[in-house]
Amino acid sequence: MGEKVIALSDLRASADIPEIPSDLSPPNGLIADALGRPLRDLRISVTDKCNFRCSYCMPKEVFDRDYRFLPQDALLSFEEITRVARLFVQHGVVKLRLTGGEPLMRKHLDELVRQLAALRTPDGQALDLTLTTNGSLLARHAQALRDAGLSRLTVSLDALDDTVFQRMNDVGFPVADVLAGIDAAVACGFGPIKVNMVVKRGTNDHEIVPMARHFRDRYGPRAVLRFIEFMDVGTTNGWRMDEVLPSSEVLRRLSAEWPLHPLQAAAPGETAERWAYDDGAGEVGFISSVTQAFCRDCNRARLSTEGKLFTCLFGSRGHDLRHLLRHGHRDEEITAAIGALWARRADRYSEQRAAGTLPAGERRVEMHYIGG
Ligand code: SAM
Ligand code: SF4
Ligand code: SF4
Repeated sequence: MGEKVIALSDLRASADIPEIPSDLSPPNGLIADALGRPLRDLRISVTDKCNFRCSYCMPKEVFDRDYRFLPQDALLSFEEITRVARLFVQHGVVKLRLTGGEPLMRKHLDELVRQLAALRTPDGQALDLTLTTNGSLLARHAQALRDAGLSRLTVSLDALDDTVFQRMNDVGFPVADVLAGIDAAVACGFGPIKVNMVVKRGTNDHEIVPMARHFRDRYGPRAVLRFIEFMDVGTTNGWRMDEVLPSSEVLRRLSAEWPLHPLQAAAPGETAERWAYDDGAGEVGFISSVTQAFCRDCNRARLSTEGKLFTCLFGSRGHDLRHLLRHGHRDEEITAAIGALWARRADRYSEQRAAGTLPAGERRVEMHYIGG
């Protein structure tokens, strides 16, 4: 008790400078990692700052007034982000997700969305361009994001009850303002909107059924509520297995209210297991990274706010792509370096945790820094 947990500024600094391979042949979009997994999804953290202090992500005791967020010149510029994204697209990425921190705290984000929306896959298709937000600033920005070409939105909301929600965001932010953000987004034509609820046993699990009822009744198929198992990301959130409510238990509680049936995954590597209400009132999702690891199909890479590539959410060491960007390397060189890093990737943290075979003493980077 009482000992201050130091956040991982040291891990933020821990990165290698990727080697440029001698073979610079152009990518064919078919790259696979060491476990045969393709590269399809890039998550981009656009800021490490946030106006919430969710205890499971940025606990107040750690991310306080003394915590040093990244200086502005450390952040990748919009042009740098777009350049990296374009190189990833050549390797087969078809989905980009903007995240953070709270991405809507990055000024003029709609400008970045506009640049990313102009990217095309090698066969000329637009990308699936999406954003995860806590919803606090969404009512203000929804229309501009839509106009800039954002295809989809995920809003995080952990409870409908104000006391529970304010305790979880730990800055006293009211539920009504997040709900207003979701309403504004639906009114702008976004849909179906995903709503992410992190479930912590004993904290907000009594909100599961009220949340499901609210989104069913108000939006039907235009909103998809997804229940996320509380994960042991980072090292500061005090994670304990007994606070994880398994998705199977969430499903049991929902099924007691409304009959549900399973649906096929929408895309290979999809993180959520999908279930639909039998009465046609839409669907729900379960992200069960603790009780049902899904590393086998994991096709996601993450780009930190300062341009480090992480090949697993639970990684401890990034690969400094910003160094390559800012030291005059050509597109072909950076593309080849990304390809070589992906080809070596063997991460399967959640499976190893489930099997009890995690290497001892591994430290993990914080989630607000590499994005969820
Ligand atoms: N600030 C934005 C938000 O909250 O939506 C985007 C960044 S946040 C890191 C991305 C997602 O990660 C959110 O849906 C959040 O609830 C989830 N998340 C953060 N910490 C988590 C944890 N320990 N376990 C499970 N999900 C977590
Ligand atoms: Fe902020 Fe999102 Fe983390 Fe909550 S989950 S502290 S809103 S980055
Ligand atoms: Fe992917 Fe790592 Fe999560 Fe496994 S633990 S699903 S490899 S991000």
